[in-house]
Amino acid sequence: QEQEASCVVAMMPSPGMGHLIPMLEFAKRLIRHNNLTVTIIIPSSDPPSTAQTTVLRSLPTAISHTFLPSVSLSDLPSITNPELGVALTVLRSLPSFRRTLLSLSSTHHRLAAFIIDSFGLDAIDIASELHIPSYIFFTSSAMALSLLLHLPYLDQTVQGNLKDLTEPVQIPGCVPVHGKDLLVPIQERNNEAYNYILHLSNRFKMTQGIISNSFPELEPKTFKELQKGEPDMIPVYSVGPMVNVDQTNGTADKYLTWLDDQPRGSVLFVCLGSWETISSAQTHELAIGLENSKQRFLWVVKRPDNLANSTFFNDINAQDNHLDFLPEGFVERTRGMGLVVPFWAPQAQILAHKSIGGFLTHCGWNSILESIVNGVPMIALPLCAEQKMNAVLITEDFKVATRPKIGENGLVENEEITRVVEKLMEGEEGKKLSYRVKELKDAASKALGENGSSTKQLSELVFMWKTP
Ligand code: UDP
Repeated sequence: QEQEASCVVAMMPSPGMGHLIPMLEFAKRLIRHNNLTVTIIIPSSDPPSTAQTTVLRSLPTAISHTFLPSVSLSDLPSITNPELGVALTVLRSLPSFRRTLLSLSSTHHRLAAFIIDSFGLDAIDIASELHIPSYIFFTSSAMALSLLLHLPYLDQTVQGNLKDLTEPVQIPGCVPVHGKDLLVPIQERNNEAYNYILHLSNRFKMTQGIISNSFPELEPKTFKELQKGEPDMIPVYSVGPMVNVDQTNGTADKYLTWLDDQPRGSVLFVCLGSWETISSAQTHELAIGLENSKQRFLWVVKRPDNLANSTFFNDINAQDNHLDFLPEGFVERTRGMGLVVPFWAPQAQILAHKSIGGFLTHCGWNSILESIVNGVPMIALPLCAEQKMNAVLITEDFKVATRPKIGENGLVENEEITRVVEKLMEGEEGKKLSYRVKELKDAASKALGENGSSTKQLSELVFMWKTP
């Protein structure tokens, strides 16, 4: 059976743990097939962070990685748009990427595929020069993918800004979504970020295919549209959910030990992503809301408002561990009921713990998938990027989350936090959401099972890459 030639797949995740983690999980699945190895090429604007090195260190030998020389973004006055920060890091890394790919293709007899996420699309020209087929690993929902494929059409047909539309936007195969809930950088035209995303969305069709980190059982109507197979459509392979479920490399972490002592399903996990921060005022409301809910919680908290004056994907080592920005006396008053963890915690392992009963999330796609594979219902507190769309998806379509209302001051106020936390952890609605998320958990596990849809699609890709 194994007559296929051995081959190497090169991957370049753009900066951000949300890109690196799922791509590594995909790589781990790929190397289960014989004669296939993966090389990860990593661009960055900072020295490797502890979070990065921790996940990279635990990789099997069939996955190697190399860091491109880190590029400087210090000439930019201040990067207020995260997408542009990621984009520029990739753009400025292209010369060293070219050298690395050249050297790889001269040492390996067959580089079968080059895989990037959507921010790496400018690198595909270099792969094309070397006759390496490129694929996009799309790290968000099929809904977000559908939006990006639909964006050139929206750009042509919609007058004015998407955020000002009075009617919801109908993305093919998706729940209707208001313009102000769409991917943040495309809500307004006439800015650099809009043009950049439009540029990327026009480049999707220049690749051989899109590998989606979702699956048809989760987003059936959207995949029906995306996989219609019409002649001018780019192939979409669904391989999700690629999430970190590996429990074996978990150290006897003190947070997990704390969870061991809590009743089953009693703890709300609160974590708003790998790099974003919220304002001091919102941090305050969140703290008081949690305290007043009288529910157990494990909160991974970052110093407020550090976005504008720090690098995006900052090194955890550089973070201070002081919690002086929390309301006075908060830590003492909630001791026993709550545990506050500065900056970073092993989220995938925490969500898999039996004591977790809910997840207050910023709605990053990896966080959503991690919650689903562990059957944990959510509270949606989206911040930026495509998170508001994801919030619509998990509340209105999947029905596995509840979304607090934003007050007139632009904040989710503490009373509202308390209300949704109580509702999720104790109310009837929480039970319904729990039930529904367990159905999706089963669907996810089926998709990844022996004859599951994602396993089949992944094998199809491997077969293609191994067939010279
Ligand atoms: N993550 C983690 N610990 C943290 C924060 C984040 O392990 O304290 C992981 C999380 O499990 C997920 C990724 O970082 O795999 C974040 O990806 P996501 O798409 O949810 O959000 P992003 O940070 O990219 O906005």
